[in-house]
Amino acid sequence: MTPLEARTLERLSARRDHLARLTASRNEHRWVDLMRRVDAAIGALEVGTWGFCAVCHDPMSAERLAEDPLVRVCLECLSEAERRGLERDLQAAGKVQRTLLPPARLVQAGWEVAYHWEPRGVVSGDHVDLIPPAAPGSPLHLVLGDVSGKGVAAALLQSHLHALFRALVPTGQPLPDLFKRANELFAEATSSVSYATLAALRLESDGRFSIANAGHPRPLLADGRGVRPLEGGGLPLGLFGDSVYTERELALAPGQTLLLYTDGWTEAARGEREFGIGRAAASLRRSASLPLPDLLTACRADLERYLGDAPRGDDLTLVAVRRVA
Ligand SMILES: [Zn+2]
Repeated sequence: MTPLEARTLERLSARRDHLARLTASRNEHRWVDLMRRVDAAIGALEVGTWGFCAVCHDPMSAERLAEDPLVRVCLECLSEAERRGLERDLQAAGKVQRTLLPPARLVQAGWEVAYHWEPRGVVSGDHVDLIPPAAPGSPLHLVLGDVSGKGVAAALLQSHLHALFRALVPTGQPLPDLFKRANELFAEATSSVSYATLAALRLESDGRFSIANAGHPRPLLADGRGVRPLEGGGLPLGLFGDSVYTERELALAPGQTLLLYTDGWTEAARGEREFGIGRAAASLRRSASLPLPDLLTACRADLERYLGDAPRGDDLTLVAVRRVA
């Protein structure tokens, strides 16, 4: 038996015991049906046919089996109705994810923030949030993150990050403390299997801001003379429970633009050739004096021109920040 098979057998046997207790007390149709499926999977494990599609007999993906050890048919062999069911679930998940997004452009507390959020598929592992000041005069928080992995699993963890920061920010702790706590909780939730890169800004109403960075691509600052990256940062969230984070305190002057992004921008590639930080910086330099929504559109268009008809490999998010006079 492979380790996956052994682990699955253990899980299924425990589940079977649990179901047996349930069906003994209430002979409900759904429990009985589920127990039949669990029994069939245990039987298949014992005779060595588990993990193979019941229709085409090809091995199924280990990832999918680990998620649901009861699947019997590979994705290619699903019936049209089953396929439509999966598609509906995915569309519903995408809709939920969009309701968590902040407004696409926000002017508040002396700041203007606009962003472009573009999932590769129906859902995204990119996390963007704007957490409004708790009271007049308190800071506005901007959070941008990127969860490892793809698809629904990454999207679930994205919504977990959303909840974490929504709960932690109002405590008013400095960013390093907030990151430390978020890291502990995220590591606990994901058993250190997944991780997220994340940058957060605390925007004060007088133009000062502090920034903390957990392994996220360096934000770019356009100041009228040129574009430079903001250095500094710690390890991604979720990797090690005891990571330590720092913050930098800076100020943004009117006319300067700060651009945060996920690696779907700089690592987008045409064949082997990445768009890269150089082209990204040049793109920002050219558009730095445009209104923020136009700046985002221009940066996106530069990338589109570079990629041509090359397939997109990742989610993409761009967030632009500026002072308003
Ligand atoms: Zn099949």
